[in-house]
Amino acid sequence: MVKNSKTSKVVTPPSTASPMPNGSDLSGNSQSSQESDPHLPTGAEPARLSSASNSRRETSVPSVSAYAVAQAQLDRVAEAMKLEQDMVELLRVPQRELIVHFPVVMDDKSIRMFTGFRVQHNTTLGPTKGGIRYHPDVTLDECRALAMWMSWKCALMNLPFGGAKGGVIVDPKLLSQDELRGLTRRYTSEISSFIGPEKDIPAPDVGTNAQIMAWMMDTYSMHKGYSVPAVTTGKPIAIGGSVGREYATGLGVTYTTRALLKRTLGQNIEDITVAVQGFGNVGSWTARTMHERGATVVAVSDVMGGIYSPKGFDPRHLKAFAAENGTVVGYPGSDTLTNEELLELPVDVLVPAAMEGQISAGNADKIQARVIAEGANGPTSPEADLILNDKGVMVIPDILCNAGGVVVSYFEWVQDLQAFFWDESEIRRQMERKLLMNLDEVMGVTVRTGVDLRTAAYTIAIQRIVDALKLRGIYP
Ligand code: NAD
Repeated sequence: MVKNSKTSKVVTPPSTASPMPNGSDLSGNSQSSQESDPHLPTGAEPARLSSASNSRRETSVPSVSAYAVAQAQLDRVAEAMKLEQDMVELLRVPQRELIVHFPVVMDDKSIRMFTGFRVQHNTTLGPTKGGIRYHPDVTLDECRALAMWMSWKCALMNLPFGGAKGGVIVDPKLLSQDELRGLTRRYTSEISSFIGPEKDIPAPDVGTNAQIMAWMMDTYSMHKGYSVPAVTTGKPIAIGGSVGREYATGLGVTYTTRALLKRTLGQNIEDITVAVQGFGNVGSWTARTMHERGATVVAVSDVMGGIYSPKGFDPRHLKAFAAENGTVVGYPGSDTLTNEELLELPVDVLVPAAMEGQISAGNADKIQARVIAEGANGPTSPEADLILNDKGVMVIPDILCNAGGVVVSYFEWVQDLQAFFWDESEIRRQMERKLLMNLDEVMGVTVRTGVDLRTAAYTIAIQRIVDALKLRGIYP
């Protein structure tokens, strides 16, 4: 596991596969895909509350909370935008926060208490939208940060949503399926008055998946007495999920990175080497969709460590290996490397697709990639941003780079509300169009003002929310 150089030891107190396009090629060369030609210009989560186990647990966490990072990013951009201080104060804090402590009956019939959160950052543009994370290090502050980032991301993509995030302090790998289902149903029940198709729509994030979204949707529906598919996105297709949602985030990272490489460096994706940190939903789909377009994926990692091969990997084979072995480490013909080493490889594109805070002032100087494509949310600290900027490393910010997921989640919500479903080529075409249109806008701001991509993306997003806020006014 990567240890952020700015980590501190924290002792926690006692605790109180979804349908994938049938293995089809996502390269865009298949007949089902109607991707536009990428070479043509387009029209454009510090409080450590409790662990899921009853024992004391030691863990390393970034000494600066993700929330402090999110607020620092907002302050910096607000200053550059000359945003009124009252607007900054309004946006610096989440609108609503819910903390729930709830019991789950374990397989051995013992009752264990868990803690969960749901944070809604801002409802100006519409209901809130954001993932649910199951991870031992989930905190209220982490949810606050991730909710804020979701607000910016939804606004940047011009979606009628504010940002939200939720999570439970738990290592899902240590639970049985029955325990996981019990935990999900009780957590959903505890937050059920807080969520809904017109209020707040959860989706998968780290440690959660389509099955968990199905249990959440079913629990909410049982409370209502009828099926409410639009309450979650990222569901299995059989119960109202959208085709394309499972791979949308990774494919979106590839679309955005490919377009940016071509437009700014004149480089084709076929000619690049890539290292991907994290081999879950986002990392594996990014690796696969880049590989299918000709990129050489020379390194990947998961929480157990990383692997390297100068010849490149076929991510499909890697996924099958990881499914069988629980990790990519040990893949035949690969060299082993640490997550720290992966981040510092001399590659064209580095894709952090695991957790936040991975690229900090401690290692930014050692990054050799020319482009960082942020698959994860918040992987780069503000200090690292400055160092990378000085080194001429281009960072494609999370709110732009990994927005394919929320864009297709939006499509899923729309389809569920209308009970009318689109085909896969339409989903991909619309997703690519939205991503590249907003990429154009972000690049336009960088060209006009000379700011970096993150500042440009934040400026556009925050301005959209502020404009809407001023039109609506402050209630009462
Ligand atoms: P996931 O649970 O499917 O996968 C996470 C991966 O990261 C796993 O391979 C895990 O082993 C690895 N990992 C965890 N901690 C690590 C560490 N310290 N070092 C290296 N690897 C580590 O999660 P995901 O859905 O792929 O999400 C990954 C990131 O992408 C998160 O930041 C999430 O918020 C963000 N994101 C996800 C989506 C989505 O649609 N799932 C959308 C946008 C952003």
